[in-house]
Amino acid sequence: MCFTVLSAELYHETNTFSRQATPYEAFAKRLTFFGKQAIAARGGANTELGGFLDVAQDKGWTLIHAMSAEAKPSGLVLQEAFERLTSTICDAVQGEAHRLDGIMLGLHGAMVAEGADDAEGELLSRLRAIVGDRVPIAITLDSHANVTERMCALADIIVSYKTYPHVDMRDIGRQAAAILHRTMVGEIKPTTIRVALPMVSEANWGRTDVGPMVELVAQARRYEQTPEVFAVSINAGFPSADIVDLGPTVLVTCQGDIDAHRNFATHLAQRIWENRTDIVNRFYEPDEAAKLASRYEALTGPLVIADFADNPGGGGYGDSTALLGALLQAGVTDACFGAMIDPEVVKVLDNKLIGSSVTVSLGGKIDPRMGGGPLELTGTLLRLSDGEYVCDGPVCRGLTLSFGRTAVLQVEGITVLIASERAQVLDLQQFISFGIDPLSKRVIALKSMQHFRAAFEPIAGQVIVCDSGALCSPDPLKLPYQNVRRPIYPLDADVVPVW
Ligand SMILES: [Zn+2]
Repeated sequence: MCFTVLSAELYHETNTFSRQATPYEAFAKRLTFFGKQAIAARGGANTELGGFLDVAQDKGWTLIHAMSAEAKPSGLVLQEAFERLTSTICDAVQGEAHRLDGIMLGLHGAMVAEGADDAEGELLSRLRAIVGDRVPIAITLDSHANVTERMCALADIIVSYKTYPHVDMRDIGRQAAAILHRTMVGEIKPTTIRVALPMVSEANWGRTDVGPMVELVAQARRYEQTPEVFAVSINAGFPSADIVDLGPTVLVTCQGDIDAHRNFATHLAQRIWENRTDIVNRFYEPDEAAKLASRYEALTGPLVIADFADNPGGGGYGDSTALLGALLQAGVTDACFGAMIDPEVVKVLDNKLIGSSVTVSLGGKIDPRMGGGPLELTGTLLRLSDGEYVCDGPVCRGLTLSFGRTAVLQVEGITVLIASERAQVLDLQQFISFGIDPLSKRVIALKSMQHFRAAFEPIAGQVIVCDSGALCSPDPLKLPYQNVRRPIYPLDADVVPVW
């Protein structure tokens, strides 16, 4: 039997504390492709769409791909953007509804739009209004999703990433598509159950390389081998969203003995709760990090310092200056720093000659309270470029991405990459493409929480993380939550979960 499946991808991780709202242009600028154009750009890469296509080809589906849209993590998605993006998907479904056997969506799961705190739930509810219960819907999620009960009620199948750094997009796309296929055939009739925890995030934001999640993910994978269990997803939650349904969840897409599957999900949730203070990272203050950097000997590779709190991948502005300022103050040499997001400075440098000496007021412009104000710096302009790079690391291998116009400035002993568009550093090509060889440096400072580890840990002699005081601080007590349900840990220290 030849099935017709409609697919789409829509990703946004919304940091509701950010001052930078997210208009449609933010999606258009970053990554918005339609139909065959999306397949050409993303089908061969490590993406959910790639996984959908693998199964479509294997099972002989007719796959109609509507859209792949993504904006960088940032503030509230504006209503016009949300309406336009969801309409693209809903109109495509409406047009093909008479012949659709299934719907496959690659979603983030932590999108918050104006008027829709549960943006993915709202999208699913609009799709159900078109196709009713007749057509099964499978969705994939980032493991930083804040998953609502409504999403679980509206989607038949949910599969989240099992890795952080996220390296299994294509795998989970395949897993979700394979479950959808069995559903369309009539072999199974899955449902997704959900157990939520009263905490803003898993202790280590869902790290799966070290810490308590390693064993929990292994248990989840083993339980997926149980008859009538199709997927187990552990979502760490995305803590930078001030919404009611914030926090970690355990999902089981299954059928049969629902009580037994719920008991298993509860067992995993209880472990997450018990491990809530088991924080693996030690967070360095910028001064401490700089002190270590100034005396570091790169015998087995460079020292990598990650500015956790200013991670553009979590909605950080990417212009926090506290770490760069501390490194310069400490006289650190033989170092690179990437990327400082400052389109104003790039514009100024764009008119200068390569090799000239320039003075700029760098970074700290969007909200100087979050990680430091502008730095007055003089340096030598080394390079200008359109900012494009082709990733070759485990997270984004094969994808062409861009920093927008970029400049490379040598300031004392530090080579600073300055970019126009926000992007976290998670791939060596984000330095190499701009003439900076990270392997030849003694110290590499970058803006990322965790994804950088996939590409940078193998070349590092030592890795440390720094809390520069920027928007994505690891300490939830620093964030002005107003809407989140209470009580919730750690905002309320004495929460007692009810399982
Ligand atoms: Zn994530």
